Amino acid sequence: MKTQGYLQVEKRESPKRNEVQYNGLKNQGATCYLNAVLQCLFMTPKFREALVSYEAPRDCGEEHLLLQLKKLFEQLSQKTATTEGITKSLGVRNVFEQQDAVEYYRKILKAVGTPPSEVFEGKMSNIAKCCNCGKKTKETSTFISILLSIDVGNHEMYDVENGLQTFFNHSKLEEDDWMYCDNCDQKTETETWSEINEYPSVLTLHLKRFDFDYIQMRFKKNDCYLNVPPSLQNRDIKPKYDLYAVINHKGGYTGGHYDAIIRSYENKLWYCFDDYTVKQTSEESLNK
Ligand SMILES: [Zn+2]
Repeated sequence: MKTQGYLQVEKRESPKRNEVQYNGLKNQGATCYLNAVLQCLFMTPKFREALVSYEAPRDCGEEHLLLQLKKLFEQLSQKTATTEGITKSLGVRNVFEQQDAVEYYRKILKAVGTPPSEVFEGKMSNIAKCCNCGKKTKETSTFISILLSIDVGNHEMYDVENGLQTFFNHSKLEEDDWMYCDNCDQKTETETWSEINEYPSVLTLHLKRFDFDYIQMRFKKNDCYLNVPPSLQNRDIKPKYDLYAVINHKGGYTGGHYDAIIRSYENKLWYCFDDYTVKQTSEESLNK
C-alpha cells in the first residue's frame, strides 16, 4: 500500500447492529485532511460517547470546538455534514490549503481536552541510563500518538509491527550526546529507551512519511509499501489492539488527498470515508 499517513488500533470490543449507514463530510476546498480525522473520531465510540455526554464549561463560547464537534456529530449521524464551524473554531484561515492530518488530530484533541480526549491518551517514560554506574533518570509524559520513523526506501515494504518494536529498542547515544551523570560527576556513555507506563484505550501510530531532505532542501514523501497487522501485541505493547482505522495520504507532499478506511464498530464492516462519499470496502484495501 502506498498511501498511509497514520493509523489507529483499538482494544477488542463488540457491540452489533446490521443496518447502518454512514454519512460523508463536505469538502470546503482542501479540507480532506480534517474530514479524515473527524470521521475517525466519529467512528471511535468511546470518544463519541465521552464527547456527547460531556457538558462543556458554561463560559466556553458558542464557537468552542467542543460544542462545534457535538453539533457535527449530531449532523453526521443523520446526513452529509458541513465543517465550517469546525474550521472556524480551529482557526483554519485558508480552507483551500492542504494541511497535515496528524497535526489536526493533535489540535482537535488538545482543544477538546479531557475527558473526551482521554480515550487516546497514554503515559510514556523516556529513560536514560548511565552505562558507568547504572543510574537511571526518567521523564514521564502523556502521549496521544507514537511517531514511527520509516527506515526503508521508497519501494520497499515497511512492517509496522517491526517498526513499533524498533521504537522501543534501547540505543546508545553518540559520544557527543552523552549525558552528565551526578554519581560519576562527568558525561558518561548513555543508553536511552522508552517504556509505556499507561496504555491508551485507543493507540494511535503516526507513520512519518514526510521528511526534510537536506540535499534538496525540501520535504519529501516516502512512498514505501506498508505491512499493517490486523492486530498488535508484542513484548512492549501488552494489551491486544485491533486495527479499526487508517488515514491515507495519496499524492505528493505539497498536495494530494486524504481519506480514511474505518471498520464500523456496529457491523464490523470496513468503509472508505472520502469527503462526501462513504463506500463499503474490504479489509484487503488496507494492504493495496
Ligand atoms: Zn553514572
